[in-house]
Amino acid sequence: MSTFKAPKGTYDLIPPRSAKFLAVREAIAAPLRNSGYGYVETPGFENVELFSRGVGESTDIVSKEMYTLTTRGGDKLALRPEGTASVLRAALEANLHKQGNLPVKLYYSGSYYRYERAQAGRYRHFSQVGAEAIGAEDPALDAELIILADQAYRSLGLKNFRILLNSLGDKECRPAYRETLQAFLRGLDLDEETLRRAEINPLRVLDDKRPEVQKQLADAPLLRDYLCDACKAYHEEVRALVTAAGVVFEDDPKLVRGLDYYTRTTFEFVHGGLGSQSAVGGGGRYDGLSEMIGGPALPSVGWALGVDRTVLALEAEGVELDIARTTDVFAVALGDAKPTVFGLVTELRRAGVSADMSYGGKGLKGAMKDANRSGARLAVVAGDRDLAEGVVQLKDMESGEQTAVPLDALVESVRTKLA
Ligand code: ATP
Ligand code: MG
Repeated sequence: MSTFKAPKGTYDLIPPRSAKFLAVREAIAAPLRNSGYGYVETPGFENVELFSRGVGESTDIVSKEMYTLTTRGGDKLALRPEGTASVLRAALEANLHKQGNLPVKLYYSGSYYRYERAQAGRYRHFSQVGAEAIGAEDPALDAELIILADQAYRSLGLKNFRILLNSLGDKECRPAYRETLQAFLRGLDLDEETLRRAEINPLRVLDDKRPEVQKQLADAPLLRDYLCDACKAYHEEVRALVTAAGVVFEDDPKLVRGLDYYTRTTFEFVHGGLGSQSAVGGGGRYDGLSEMIGGPALPSVGWALGVDRTVLALEAEGVELDIARTTDVFAVALGDAKPTVFGLVTELRRAGVSADMSYGGKGLKGAMKDANRSGARLAVVAGDRDLAEGVVQLKDMESGEQTAVPLDALVESVRTKLA
């Protein structure tokens, strides 16, 4: 062990488990790529203002969880705590919304940072794959994203997840609801901080996980009963399109999300095997965000799925991913055969065969141990005498059967045996 450990709340992705993270990222990205979403990558840090304005001062993310720093040049930056504000910033900066048809569809995959109380499923460094459809108001987009997340989870073999759906209304109907809810909350027995939250962002109080708060919220007025006709019609269309695709969801009239910029459609994916960190992903419509960060009106919708929690969910369900074996051929060079064997390994790799070899000048016994440990199906063994005859020994690691193969026929023989 070295003197150092990974910082609190972080962990390293290490083989073989790291292969699951790659597979999860790919499984989430594949249906997006297949649906017109282009890859976007933004910096790991941004101007802190982007998040305080875009995500909202009163959110947990901005008020408690952001890693901020001041550079030597005096710039105030934050490690990105989420992806949406950055992606929208990048799209506006590149004028993507002016260059072609709307919506602009983008997806991303990367690391995010939040100063949280570290526990299972909740880390200070974690990864997300996210998708955003920018610049169009169409229930088909909201539905598309919900269906694509469902497809991604299912392609991984995940079963024990649920989709929760709600509408948060818009600037027409939310203000009246907000006041009604506020009046209701003022009458409850709440601690000071929660009462303060009720004044700044009363909807957030609905999301309070504490049982003593939830108990008092049983009779809270529901936004569902206050939606304006346009929001109601929009929401019904989203529900109908998702239903028609055969994707099962649950209406959750108390579902709100932690970010200020959400309007109308809001949804969360939860998994039953994760204890209290049950959200594997979430998202919704954010029609006001672009204007909040200085852009034009660009109604948009998106989601972010947590890679770490998805891996935990797969493990909780005992799903084994079909992750390809890393090495097909393992080569062992004896005596002076090393340069030739090294050349053969290079040739195999260039031919697309996964190949590795024994390093460090080991003898036959040690090198064959490496071959066994690699899990390779075939071993190539060659010493001076083999090379003098122009052959190498090709060994089937399962049956133990061994044949002499001419040097220039190795790639072909390996291909035949692996097929
Ligand atoms: P939570 O309510 O669990 O804090 P959140 O609402 O803050 O989640 P989002 O900002 O919507 O989460 O992020 C989307 C997804 O990213 C979450 O559903 C989760 O899977 C993942 N995620 C968020 N924060 C963390 C974290 N600290 N560690 C691991 N995964 C996380
Ligand atoms: Mg959170």
